[in-house]
Amino acid sequence: MLDRENDLNAWDRDHFFHPSTHMGMHARGESPRRVIGSGEGVYITDTAGKRSLDAFAGLYCVNVGYGRTEIAEAISQQAHELAYYHAYVGHGTEASITLAHMIMERAPAHMSRVYFGLSGSDANETNIKLIWYYNNILGRPEKKKIISRWRGYHGSGVMTGSLTGLELFHNAFDLPRAPILHTEAPYYFRREDRSMSEEQFSAHCVAKLEELILAEGPDTVAAFIGEPILGTGGIVPPPKGYWAAIQAVLEKYDVLLVADEVVTGFGRLGSMFGSQHYGMKPDLITIAKGLTSAYAPLSGSIVSDRMWEVLVRGSDQLGPIGHGWTYSAHPICAAAGVANLRLIDELNLVENAGRVGAYFRKGLEDALGSHANVGEVRGDGLMAAVEFVEDRDDRKFFDPSRKIGPAIAAALLDRGVIGRAMPQGDILGFAPPFCLTEAEADTIVTAAASAIEAVL
Ligand code: PLP
Repeated sequence: MLDRENDLNAWDRDHFFHPSTHMGMHARGESPRRVIGSGEGVYITDTAGKRSLDAFAGLYCVNVGYGRTEIAEAISQQAHELAYYHAYVGHGTEASITLAHMIMERAPAHMSRVYFGLSGSDANETNIKLIWYYNNILGRPEKKKIISRWRGYHGSGVMTGSLTGLELFHNAFDLPRAPILHTEAPYYFRREDRSMSEEQFSAHCVAKLEELILAEGPDTVAAFIGEPILGTGGIVPPPKGYWAAIQAVLEKYDVLLVADEVVTGFGRLGSMFGSQHYGMKPDLITIAKGLTSAYAPLSGSIVSDRMWEVLVRGSDQLGPIGHGWTYSAHPICAAAGVANLRLIDELNLVENAGRVGAYFRKGLEDALGSHANVGEVRGDGLMAAVEFVEDRDDRKFFDPSRKIGPAIAAALLDRGVIGRAMPQGDILGFAPPFCLTEAEADTIVTAAASAIEAVL
């Protein structure tokens, strides 16, 4: 056993190029190295035997929790029956067709079809292509720019990395700037003018968007993409009135709305979709993580009726759409999706996410809200964040070299709970599985309070 551990450590250090990891520190053995062996419910256990409550559900994706035999068996059965067949030129499998139907049963009524991919990034790449195709078919070849928000996260591909509004994901990659534009994040806590109410701040963000559309020329702006609640950018819920006002401006200039629901799709906010939760009416919805609870990789672009009608016209003019992935609608992943969505219904997990989420966020607020270095406790549904400040009154940032966020996340892990130091700012994020109980929520809160005391 010990040899095996040593082997894994050496192979990991010498052969594995990890995503989103400090390469030098990892290779030199200076950053945490952990081999995860198993999971059950909200807990994971590493190969050294240490068990942790995963209060971030992997990367906010293991929504039904670990160790679900129903999904494991569906995957196994599908692999035995038919491991693969493609979805090109009208082919389907029982699993992929059933899953498409189940997604559309749950999606907002004005949505029409789902195009399957494998990751949130590739689904957003698909969205960009569909938006461009749509405007070409409508005879508006100049209407191509896509507006995203600073602090938005939409993936790590060439175009989607550019959509992502976080510096870390742009650094030294020469991602294309055009035709991607960024506008102000609806980050109420960090607003410049502290006298603004939430409604005033929403109006301010929307005015900034309208200014940008007018400066660029509405005939050149195709779409606006946003997560219903900012996720990786700091778990920031929209200020009051934000989405309704954004939607009105988009309609005024005939700009499509893409709701990136990779995190919020299938229940995380206590509603099936975040767009329903906040009253958005998107033309495209990106789904991924929660579609299979990450038991297998699968994503999708859900297309509205009005876009679908134009896409069909496109095929009638140009022939089959020239966009496809080998693994689109992969039957094993689709079987995982079908079993996952059934489980969410059977266990009433969307309702549980809303109810336990509210309990959990109140627990965090009660325990931490008045701490001298806690600027804000915020969130919605089963997403929560604690933002740390050096000074509560002027909301001063800590010196970044102190790495307060990562230090608190490490102290939390020492106490048996996994939270996430969000990539920008000193923000500790939580997004636990939907099966979280109130007792488990209490465990997270107690550990977080103790970790903060230890570091600050
Ligand atoms: N969109 C959002 C809102 C996300 O949070 C993520 C990943 O965290 C993505 C897109 C990209 O998904 P993936 O990592 O599967 O490519």
